[in-house]
Amino acid sequence: PVSSAGDFISDIVRHDNATGTYSGRVQTRFPPEPNGYLHIGHAKAITVDFGIAAEFGGLCNLRFDDTNPDTEDTEYVDSIIEDVRWLGYEPAGVFYASDYFEQLYLWAEVLIGDGKAYVDDQDGETISAQRGGYGKPGIASPYRDRTPEENLDLFRRMRAGEFPDGSRVLRAKIDMNHENMQLRDPVLYRIRRGHHHRTQDAWVIYPTYDWAHGQSDAIEGVTHSLCTLEFVAHRPLYDWCLEQLPLPHDKPRQIEFARLELTNTVTSKRRLKKLVDDGTVDGWDDPRMPTLSGLRKRGYPASAIVAFCRDMGVSRTNSRQAIEELESYVRRDLNRTAQRRMAVLHPLRLTITNWPAGEVEYFEVANNPENPDDGTRRVAFSGDLFIEREDFAEVPPPKFYRLAPGREVRLRGAYFVTATDVVTDADGTVVEVRATYDPATSGGDAPDGRKVKSTMHWVSAPHAADATVALYERLFTAALPGEATGEPLDDLNPASRELLDGCKVEAALATTKPGEVVQFERLGYFALDPEAPMHFHRTVGLRDEWAAIQKR
Ligand code: ATP
Ligand code: MG
Ligand code: MG
Repeated sequence: PVSSAGDFISDIVRHDNATGTYSGRVQTRFPPEPNGYLHIGHAKAITVDFGIAAEFGGLCNLRFDDTNPDTEDTEYVDSIIEDVRWLGYEPAGVFYASDYFEQLYLWAEVLIGDGKAYVDDQDGETISAQRGGYGKPGIASPYRDRTPEENLDLFRRMRAGEFPDGSRVLRAKIDMNHENMQLRDPVLYRIRRGHHHRTQDAWVIYPTYDWAHGQSDAIEGVTHSLCTLEFVAHRPLYDWCLEQLPLPHDKPRQIEFARLELTNTVTSKRRLKKLVDDGTVDGWDDPRMPTLSGLRKRGYPASAIVAFCRDMGVSRTNSRQAIEELESYVRRDLNRTAQRRMAVLHPLRLTITNWPAGEVEYFEVANNPENPDDGTRRVAFSGDLFIEREDFAEVPPPKFYRLAPGREVRLRGAYFVTATDVVTDADGTVVEVRATYDPATSGGDAPDGRKVKSTMHWVSAPHAADATVALYERLFTAALPGEATGEPLDDLNPASRELLDGCKVEAALATTKPGEVVQFERLGYFALDPEAPMHFHRTVGLRDEWAAIQKR
C-alpha cells in the first residue's frame, strides 16, 4: 500500500534501472526465520522490502529462512503470514529456503569439486579459536588440504547420516588471513539431527545462513536483497558464494539499512521468547509485547505502524526512536476512527436526590465529534449513577476542580450537579456521594451562562455493563534496556499491567466488536479483547507525550 520516500535504497534501484543492470526488473523479499513472532522491527523491514518493490512496480516475496530445525516451527510460519497480511501487504509468493535444500546441496558439491570447500573434522570451538581476530592471523585446519575426491566422499557420507551431530562441518576454502573474519573459511554445512518443520527427517545436514541466503535469493530471481546493517560484514561472503556458482538469474545485490529500535523496548526474538517461555507475559500476543500480534491485541492500527515506519525513512546509521513517537501515530489514527464511550474504571456511587424516582432520560450523544458520519447513540441517565472515584474529594486539595461537597460540575452531555453530602462506611471511606441536579441544564449547558470548572464522565448504574480493564505501563523501565547491566531483561518492569475488575461502562459497549478500539472519554483508547467478552486493553492514553518531549 505504501511506497518508500526517496531514500538511498530507491536511489540505488533507480540507478540499476537506468543502467539496465537487471533489465529493469525489481524483486525483493522479506526473509524471516520462523523461530518467533514478528516484532515492530520487522514491520520496518516489511515496509522497506515491500515498499521498494511497490515503488518500482516489482515483486516482493515472503521467504522463510528455515535452515535451523531446532528452533523453527509451523506456529511461527502461520503467525508471520498473518502478521504480514495484517500490515496490509500481500506477498507475490511464499517460499521456503528448505525448498532449496537439494539445490543448495548440489551447489556445495560444485564448490567441493572446484577445490573451494572442504570437510573439517574439528569441533566448533576449535574452529572458532583458529579463526583468529583483527590483525591476528588465522590458523589453517589440518584438514584444509583434503582432495576434492576425499571431500566429496565425506560430504556425501555426512548427508547419508554416517557421522554424529557436530562431528564434521563443510567449510568454504577462502583465506584464513582475510581481514574480514567472515571470509576465514566460513562454515557452510553442519550435521544436526533436529526434526525440521517442513522437511521432517529427510536431512541431517543443514546449510548455514551464509550458504542459504544469497543462493535462495538467486534461485528466486531477487534483484535487491535488503537487510539490516549487521549483515554488512557478510556481504563479501554473500558475493563470493554467488560468484562460484552457475546462477539462473543475474547476481542479486545486498543492500543494508539501519534496524528500527525503540526506547523502553526490546526487539530480539531470543529475549522475547524468553519472556514467553518464563511466563513473564501471557504469550507472544500479550498486549505488552512489541510483537505485531501483541500490538494488534493492544489496539494499535496497522496503518499507524506502517505510517510510523514510512515517515521515519531509511537510514544507514542505527538509532533508537522514542516509543512516544510511535504512540503519537497511534493516537492520531484512533482519534479519527475510534467511537467515544463513557466508562468508569473505579466506580463511586452518585445519587441524585432530587431526581424523580424511577425515571430514566435518554441523551443523544455524538459517537465521534471528529467524524459526524459516525452518528450518535442514546445514553441513559438516571438518579443512580457511577462516577470515577478520583473525580470526587471530600476535602479538595488545591487545584482540584472536580466534584466536592458544595461544588457544581457538569456531567458530560447530561446535567450540572452539585454535591451535597456523602455516605461513608465504618472506616470512614466514602461509598456514595449525594447530589442535586439542575433541571434547567439538560444537555450540559446552563441557560444563565453560569460556568463550571469541570466536566466529568459517568454511567447510569442500572444501565451500566460490567467490564474488566487492563492498564499497561512500559514493559521495560529503562529507555535503553540493558544499558546498566548489559542484560535488557534486567530492566523488566515488575508492574507493567494493572487489571481492574468491576469497571462500569455504558451499555453501548456491549455491542463493541472484538478487536475494536474505542475512546473512553478522558481515559484513553481501549481495545476490546478478540476473545474475552467485555475485557478491554488500554491501547494508549489521550495525552500526547511525544509533543511534550519535543517541546522540552
Ligand atoms: P532477531 O534478531 O530479533 O532474532 P532477526 O534479524 O534474526 O531478528 P529475522 O527473522 O532473521 O530476524 O529477520 C527478518 C528480516 O527482518 C531480516 O531482513 C532482518 O534484517 C529484519 N529485521 C529484524 N529485526 C529488525 C529490526 N529491528 N529493524 C529492521 N529490520 C529488522
Ligand atoms: Mg535472522
Ligand atoms: Mg538476528
